[in-house]
Amino acid sequence: MTRGVAILGSTGSIGTSTLQVLRRQRERFRVVALTAHSNAELLEGQVAEWHPAYVGIVNGGGILKDSLTVVGRGAWEGGTGNACLVEAATHPDVGIVVNAIVGAAGLEATLAALRAGKRVALANKEALVMAGELVTEAARAGGGEIVPVDSEHSAVLQCITGRRPGELARLILTASGGPFRTWTPERLAGATVAEALQHPTWKMGKKITVDSATLVNKALEVIEAHFLFGLPYPAVQVVVHPQSVVHAFVEFVDGSVLAQVGFPTMELPILYALTHPERVPDRGAKRFDPVEAGALTFEPVRPELYPAYALGRAAGEQGGTAPAAFNAANEVAVQLFLEGRIRFGKIAETIERVLAAPWPSSARSLEDVLSADAVARRLAREAACS
Ligand code: NAD
Ligand code: MG
Repeated sequence: MTRGVAILGSTGSIGTSTLQVLRRQRERFRVVALTAHSNAELLEGQVAEWHPAYVGIVNGGGILKDSLTVVGRGAWEGGTGNACLVEAATHPDVGIVVNAIVGAAGLEATLAALRAGKRVALANKEALVMAGELVTEAARAGGGEIVPVDSEHSAVLQCITGRRPGELARLILTASGGPFRTWTPERLAGATVAEALQHPTWKMGKKITVDSATLVNKALEVIEAHFLFGLPYPAVQVVVHPQSVVHAFVEFVDGSVLAQVGFPTMELPILYALTHPERVPDRGAKRFDPVEAGALTFEPVRPELYPAYALGRAAGEQGGTAPAAFNAANEVAVQLFLEGRIRFGKIAETIERVLAAPWPSSARSLEDVLSADAVARRLAREAACS
């Protein structure tokens, strides 16, 4: 029996890597649903290859009707607008939802999938950061399960699987440090879009690549780890590791430390999120070779280079709607930076201005979270353009 998979954001970096994994695992999984934001051309090719039962496109309904009917062959359903994400995520034939959407847009589908008892293979960390309490509560209430796709969190999960929760003491997540690790703060403030998009070890979507340059990505991951593994913030630490070979260290209560290692590829954490707690044979990833990996180095995070990292950690510690505000401010600032409308240094300044507002301490309803998200976006636009 194959397990049905929905991929939300199938046209992105994680989405296409997921399909690459599934090409080698056809005897275990079948693609039931695919959604994309607006890349109808790529989606059309994916539909022709996989014949999913459900296809959704958020933006571009006309295209869906005209072209996908031709390539879809046979009966399939299609949806448009934001509603298609929830439809795909809760489709009755879907057991696992790979949420590969970037940003806040992925939240409602994650909640719906968990409430419907699905496994969510979560790449969309922004959803968990915005609404960690709601997402974990939805999993409890609906019997759903969140399995991280993020490589650091997958590393942690691989190290702790089979252990009791009380045995876990501390996590050390690794960060590549991004392209600006060796720059001065003065030079960094004026870094260009092209420079920020030159990630040293990972090939990813633009938003997360900029987040890796500011280290906002690592702050999001600290908050993600807090909610996934139930550790207090001081027990979730970060070290800069430019080679991206060690993905995380996990310390247990007896002082022993385990780490998970490998050449950087998202295909391994994606596969593990589909099969956890089992492992299945796969020949996709390049086999590890310690001699080829060479010298591995570790350095502390330099706070003067990554001001947004400390802001994100503080928002996590503050709790309530502060993480949602942090995430929203960052999404707006990164978009403006990518459009060439603000300089690099303005991303952290914008986040700082937004987080200075008083953020409500209750994030227990979706309305609480979405209203904080909307207010933070408005404040961020004002702060960025002033
Ligand atoms: P990407 O930009 O390459 O792809 C984003 C996908 O989301 C696309 O398929 C797009 O159609 C869809 N999308 C965008 N906006 C949407 C909207 N408003 N509604 C519905 N769908 C929308 O991004 P990516 O690099 O694949 O990252 C996806 C997520 O995975 C992010 O949360 C990122 O932080 C996380 N992640 C990525 C990597 C990586 O290696 N790329 C690693 C770890 C975590
Ligand atoms: Mg990561």
